[in-house]
Amino acid sequence: ARIVDPGGDTEDRRFEAALRPRKLADFPGQPRVRDQLSLVLEAAKRRAAPPDHVLLSGPPGLGKTSLAMIIAAELEQPIRITSGPAIQHAGDLAAVLSSLAEGEVLFLDEIHRMARPAEEMLYLAMEDFRVDIIVGKGPGATAIPLELPPFTVVGATTRAGLLPAPLRDRFGFTGHLDFYTPEDLAQILTRNATLLGIDATEQGIEEIAGRSRGTPRIANRLLRRVRDYAQVHGSGILDQGAARAALSLFDVDDRGLDRLDRAVLEALCRRFGGGPVGLSTLAVAVGEESDTVETVAEPYLVREGYLVRTPRGRAASPLAWQHLGLTPPVNAVA
Ligand code: ATP
Repeated sequence: ARIVDPGGDTEDRRFEAALRPRKLADFPGQPRVRDQLSLVLEAAKRRAAPPDHVLLSGPPGLGKTSLAMIIAAELEQPIRITSGPAIQHAGDLAAVLSSLAEGEVLFLDEIHRMARPAEEMLYLAMEDFRVDIIVGKGPGATAIPLELPPFTVVGATTRAGLLPAPLRDRFGFTGHLDFYTPEDLAQILTRNATLLGIDATEQGIEEIAGRSRGTPRIANRLLRRVRDYAQVHGSGILDQGAARAALSLFDVDDRGLDRLDRAVLEALCRRFGGGPVGLSTLAVAVGEESDTVETVAEPYLVREGYLVRTPRGRAASPLAWQHLGLTPPVNAVA
């Protein structure tokens, strides 16, 4: 597992419960989504009715689960948490839906991974607050309609494009979460350092924020490793020196690139003159599967402008050459 992996692992989850903000006002960053949600929730509270269903989309680790919990807390309603992969049969969903209380929030993580028959049941439930329970099989099967109390679905997805249009249309509000600025991450880290009883300097926090790839989950993980370093090798205070030393130990450079990211760029620049080179050739050069290079390293390198996808393969941008301290050849492609 990479220290800059935006997906959560068991250790992350152990800390996340304690670190999640509980109110919209305590949720730094994502100003647009926060203001939009705040309006939707406030209006619902004034009408004393559940709000429209909410879809949250965006890359992993940016706070979709946290926002779902905040929505329930702001509405003063309980939250039921499940995920697309856990709902493989319509019956799984029927069991959840039929036990919801009025106003309850149903959080469906990875909603794009729900089985098709369950998806169809969900359309009806979201629109008409009703499910058809099928009793029996074959020609004798009958549908028994079951009325549901009004509730709110909060769906989360990293792949909004994979959601079938009829499901997407059932959400009255969609919030797109974007990567955080270093300033927002610094605010999150400062709060979390306090919650974890870590004595941190502003420069130490800024050093971590600048290397966290715009992702709070990565920031929280780096915070824990720098704290370890400060306790073992330093005075216990998380300062800039401890941050730099710890992150260099874990191979996270000053722009948040790790060993794999740099290996991809090094191979592109040193072995292939900056490209373009096919994905599989590039993957062999760094000793990884094509899939790993494409899904693990590439998105961040492309987003930050180090790597360019061209019809003839991957190419290094001037930023990549600069980052590696190399001079691009005069005929470099990107
Ligand atoms: P995934 O889809 O991978 O589950 P997610 O988008 O649901 O990720 P969360 O689980 O909500 O992300 O957040 C991951 C971690 O980042 C949590 O520890 C959470 O506290 C923290 N976090 C995310 N966004 C914020 C924020 N705006 N302020 C403070 N902490 C945040």
